[in-house]
Amino acid sequence: MGYWSEAVLHVLLPRACAHCREDLRFRSEEPLCAACAAALPSAPDPACARCGGALGVRRGFCAACSGRLFACRLIRAAVSYRGPAASLVRAFKFRGLPCAARAAGRVMVADFARRAELAGFDALVPVPLHPRRERERGYNQALLLARELGAATGLPVKELLERRRAAAPSWRLGRAARRAELSGAFAPRAGAGAQGLGLLLVDDVCASATTLEECALALRRAGARDVAGYAFARAGRFI
Ligand SMILES: [Zn+2]
Ligand SMILES: [Zn+2]
Repeated sequence: MGYWSEAVLHVLLPRACAHCREDLRFRSEEPLCAACAAALPSAPDPACARCGGALGVRRGFCAACSGRLFACRLIRAAVSYRGPAASLVRAFKFRGLPCAARAAGRVMVADFARRAELAGFDALVPVPLHPRRERERGYNQALLLARELGAATGLPVKELLERRRAAAPSWRLGRAARRAELSGAFAPRAGAGAQGLGLLLVDDVCASATTLEECALALRRAGARDVAGYAFARAGRFI
């Protein structure tokens, strides 16, 4: 579209911030206004040393993580799932705005650089969507996040997993039911080369961490040496 037709369209139909609905600057590529982007809530702190979920005042492990081993060794997130971060997620998950996923990916890039514990992985693996869900939405938001991170860090993005069953909405299920529902939902793609690799799973929101654990189990079965997870936003157990 030419500059003038774009300018006219901007006056007639200004794009609004995905959180506060304030009009955005002309030609802004960002889905959030500057004030909302600056107000993205940081990841939980203090947080569980394994899953990154919010803890009370002390440090250490949450009740679900202490004394247990997980296929997904470590989980971190860039922000907490509330306020403008939740609006950004809704924009790419339910309103079909892939530019919101790319913006979330850029937030992850800035956060990733500060997290020494996420250094040293060989590749990024997006959590797959069921093919039907991906057709409906037109994209896999986790892949868009992984691509932003990959472009900035030089890490290759490997789509090593496939989702065999579509998920029921997680908020309808308790923890055990969700675990059972997701068990076996993810599998390595045919010919997926995971042997001996340290892999960082990438997802949009981490709530119960069940999805990341199921993906990590599939990658370990395919020979991965180490698996961790990195999400855009950390939520409480259920959203
Ligand atoms: Zn705003
Ligand atoms: Zn934990």
